Amino acid sequence: MGIDLRRPLPLNRLKYIPDTVEYIDVLRLDLLHDTISGNKWFKLKYNIEAMRGEGKKGMVSFGGAYSNHLHALAYAGYQLGFATVGMVRGEAVMNECLSDCVKWGMELHFMSRSEYRNKNDDLFLEGIRNRFSDYSIVPEGGDNELGARGCEEIMEGVNMQDYDVVCVSVGSGTTLRGISSCMKPGQMLLGFAPMKGGGYLSEKLAPFVSHSNWRIIDRYALGGFGVVKQDLRDFATYFESRESIALDYIYTAKMMYGLYDMYEEHIAVRDRVRVLAIHTGGLQGNRGFGQMRIC
Ligand SMILES: *Cc1c(COP(=O)(O)O)cnc(C)c1O
Repeated sequence: MGIDLRRPLPLNRLKYIPDTVEYIDVLRLDLLHDTISGNKWFKLKYNIEAMRGEGKKGMVSFGGAYSNHLHALAYAGYQLGFATVGMVRGEAVMNECLSDCVKWGMELHFMSRSEYRNKNDDLFLEGIRNRFSDYSIVPEGGDNELGARGCEEIMEGVNMQDYDVVCVSVGSGTTLRGISSCMKPGQMLLGFAPMKGGGYLSEKLAPFVSHSNWRIIDRYALGGFGVVKQDLRDFATYFESRESIALDYIYTAKMMYGLYDMYEEHIAVRDRVRVLAIHTGGLQGNRGFGQMRIC
């Protein structure tokens, strides 16, 4: 396809780590591409292929006002030559993320929060299907079978036997599902949920996770989804100054914060573990956090 991806993905060993771990490597999905960074490309890849196979002219999907998913989809449509429609949660207000999407030719439709909540209902989807009959419809975050299949490719080139624990941030959990197919017996897969009550993901994902040793950790929501407290921001700044790796506030900063806290507080699975942390990208979303929005 017409998007040049950086492969193999860089793997960086962190310089400063809790003494209970042997090492922490970061798989840099954020460096996959300058624009379409992170896990979103993997979730789109086979959805795009399927859309093309069905002879559709484009793709409709859903997301918030700083959605990494819609941003990636708009760019993919622009580069690969298919139409894109973004159904955006919330009132019609433009921002840097949505301006990029429009620049790349995405048609935007704003939906009230109550309307948006119905986005997976049959009746609602029927309406969208009628309205956009030449388009394929992909759920928010690329959360479907094809999205998960693409995520199985995230670990390509990684020596899995070098690790005891693999950490990833979870939203829909599609990425975790895909990654679970690469896990080896004895390894632990940890999904860090950045939202309160993220434990529901354990139930939702259980039928799809093809590895027995895994769990969702939701104690590091740090105020809830999209909430970024000053502590977290300070952590991300400090982490970046030490390791030269920028983190997004919504997902990867909370994961990394949680990872350090867990091992420093000895909530660890066991000592001297070798950890792989997956950087799922999402840095464009940080543009949504001007001083005003920090709690
Ligand atoms: C979307 C996103 C996630 C969550 O991915 P899921 O597959 O929905 O679990 C994690 N990290 C970043 C940076 C994201 O943009």
